[in-house]
Amino acid sequence: MAGRTRGRPIPHATLRPEPGSQHRRTCGARSLGLRLAPMADGSAIEWTDATWNPVRGCTKISPGCKHCYAETFAERFRGVPGHPFEQGFDLRLVPEKLSDPFKWRRSRKIFVNSMSDLFHEDVPDDYIARVFTVMRGADWHVYQVLTKRAERMQRFVSRLPWLAELKHIWLGVSVEDRKYGLPRVELLRETAAAVRFLSVEPLLEDLGPFSLAGISWVIVGGESGPRARPIAEDWVCTIRNSCRKNNVPFFFKQWGGVQKKRTGRTLQGRLHDEFPTVRIAAPPAEAERYRRLLTAQLLRPLHA
Ligand code: SF4
Repeated sequence: MAGRTRGRPIPHATLRPEPGSQHRRTCGARSLGLRLAPMADGSAIEWTDATWNPVRGCTKISPGCKHCYAETFAERFRGVPGHPFEQGFDLRLVPEKLSDPFKWRRSRKIFVNSMSDLFHEDVPDDYIARVFTVMRGADWHVYQVLTKRAERMQRFVSRLPWLAELKHIWLGVSVEDRKYGLPRVELLRETAAAVRFLSVEPLLEDLGPFSLAGISWVIVGGESGPRARPIAEDWVCTIRNSCRKNNVPFFFKQWGGVQKKRTGRTLQGRLHDEFPTVRIAAPPAEAERYRRLLTAQLLRPLHA
């Protein structure tokens, strides 16, 4: 996968809507071609309510990427005219998706870039800043930003001094093993965010003891799919016990395997569905959402 976008400009996505999105418009927005009607959303991912992908596509960076579900899904549609993944898993920006959170009235937990990595080296700084501008403005949602590019996230966020105050923007790193995953935890600890989380999935080996200082949430899961690599119960229990000891909410997502529905998601006889507790703003009225949307579009990216 690596190098697909190297040496040539990153194309923007087509302006066609994603299948299932709705196109009703409010009166005020119609004249400007904006949509404030509810958008299609929902997610099968247990720890979130919706996904938002202002970037699509990625390249592999570590062993956790080996059976990337996003790549498998995207490549199925390569060459299908008009499909959001017509260009397969090639990285591209999707600026017409940037304003989606303003269109969602109901507060929800939003997994940012479930089909990409916001801090991928081919996503320009300016574009990442626009994503943060939207998250700052549409503050009645919780944003779950998850990356394997922890170093770039740490560097980027150091230029956003206001971010550490915002409890609705959660920053997390993927942790699959000791060699690649645990250094990301150290970088995350140095990242200024109100809520820092770990997605320990796919868990590929016993991580051994590691510090949870500064970490507000841990998700653990096994790999699923036809070539799933195995997970062991004691690896999971070690992490869960460490979470308990340190008062860190713990979420067990799945055992995974070839048939993940059969293996389920109970650990020692019970579900573990804990989340950080944060208070977020109530959803504003439509006029205010519209005002904020316009402000986010007019403002230059917020670096300070
Ligand atoms: S970083 Fe994430 S989205 Fe990118 S290839 Fe790896 S698993 Fe897939």
